[in-house]
Amino acid sequence: MASKLDFVRFPAPDGVNGWWESLPPAAPANSVTGEHRFDYVIVGGGITGLCAARRLAELAPDASIALVEADRIGRSTAGRNSGFFVDLPHDISSESYSRSVEADKADVRLQRHGIDYVRSTVRQHGIDCDWRDDGKYHASVNKKGHAALAHFAQGLARIGEACEWLDEAAIARVTGTGFYKSALFTPGCSTVQPAALMRGLAATQPANVTVFELSAVKGMETRGQSRLLSFANGRIEAQRVVLCTNAYAATFGGHPNGLLPVYTFASMSRVMNDDEIARLGGAQSWALIPADPMGTTVRRLATNRICVRNHFAFRPNLAVSESDLAKAKHLHQRSFDRRFPMLKDVELQYTWGGALCLSANNGALFGQREDGVFEAVGCNGLGLSRGSASGKLIAEYALGQSNPLIDQLLAQPHPRSLPIRPIADVAVSAAIWMKEFSAGAEL
Ligand SMILES: Cc1cc2nc3c(=O)[nH]c(=O)nc-3n(C[C@H](O)[C@H](O)[C@H](O)COP(=O)(O)OP(=O)(O)OC[C@H]3O[C@@H](n4cnc5c(N)ncnc54)[C@H](O)[C@@H]3O)c2cc1C
Repeated sequence: MASKLDFVRFPAPDGVNGWWESLPPAAPANSVTGEHRFDYVIVGGGITGLCAARRLAELAPDASIALVEADRIGRSTAGRNSGFFVDLPHDISSESYSRSVEADKADVRLQRHGIDYVRSTVRQHGIDCDWRDDGKYHASVNKKGHAALAHFAQGLARIGEACEWLDEAAIARVTGTGFYKSALFTPGCSTVQPAALMRGLAATQPANVTVFELSAVKGMETRGQSRLLSFANGRIEAQRVVLCTNAYAATFGGHPNGLLPVYTFASMSRVMNDDEIARLGGAQSWALIPADPMGTTVRRLATNRICVRNHFAFRPNLAVSESDLAKAKHLHQRSFDRRFPMLKDVELQYTWGGALCLSANNGALFGQREDGVFEAVGCNGLGLSRGSASGKLIAEYALGQSNPLIDQLLAQPHPRSLPIRPIADVAVSAAIWMKEFSAGAEL
């Protein structure tokens, strides 16, 4: 017997997503109005929901499938990240991204599965999203960072993954800045324009998928063998529901204080002019993550913009304030100025935040929540590759398939519950603050 589910938090604007703003205007949204009936409803049009809907449609071409998204697809979190499809271990709660050998190998297997699925979709449909298989630089700014990179390199060697060291001069030739002291190049990371990818994935869904945007599910109830989902202007009755709402699932209950909505923030510069491009030098496009997971991620885009990401804030109510955004912009400007002193006049045009879904033990939710209701939630900060994989695999699981990767996801720990609020709030915020403080120069 399924219970009643209230969707109490809905996506808020959370700043202005530069990736979305730099795309051509979107076609008008198709919203839920009136009464509908589908075999499956996927709730959440992020990368997880987009992959779940596609895979279901591929495997069950006669099924009718609805994908419902509260915002525009590409404007919410999956379209507002830094666009790294990371294949290698990337535990942002550790000090050097890696875990144990077995956990690292399992992560790589899963993440590559997700990346391969999306890459093949992008190629098959010619999705215009600046997909690049150019790898990433993992850079340090001092001895402490270099030691973290060395630790990460050892972890890669243990699992048989290749990487290449760059010294100060070599990484400066790539980035144009002398800010970094050393870097590891790892070839398997892909990068994208995330808003363009999400929009493209929505536009190329198989014919048996109907995409609804600006359609927030307000509640879900059981009616006989069906689920009834209510919206502001209509309802959908479905045989089965797949929840892909990531951080927003933190308010569903059932996992008290286990799913932690932690925001991170990004800013994008305006387009540089020819003189500024010449002053910067370096390669036309590169993607760099910091040696300390709490440091600053930077991308130089082929569109001649620079995108920086840093700063985390625990926001259990799933909304950020103007002062959160102002603080993030201030931190981004400082990070930008330290790296690019030759670009003093290049202002940050857009600043935004987005909710990650973390947990204290790297746990996630995958499987059947209750009769007819499935969930794939909890990316732990690596939603592009992990969400692609878990979205694809939850569709296969919902159709009764089994394979080793499904078993791997079913076996992962559930998010560990924390003490009740406000104790949990203070503990999580303090842990983030200490980690950011320790990242120091990498910010
Ligand atoms: C600034 C920033 C940089 C990041 N960089 C990276 C990166 O480089 N690489 C990486 O892998 N990850 C990165 N991330 C994390 C990544 O964006 C997330 O892990 C990813 O979006 C998770 O995908 P998802 O589909 O599971 O969830 P989401 O993208 O959060 O999608 C869930 C969707 O559900 C919708 N929804 C919620 N409630 C409802 C409702 N009631 N009705 C209908 N729809 C609803 C939401 O609007 C949302 O679109 C970054 C995040 C941010 C904010």
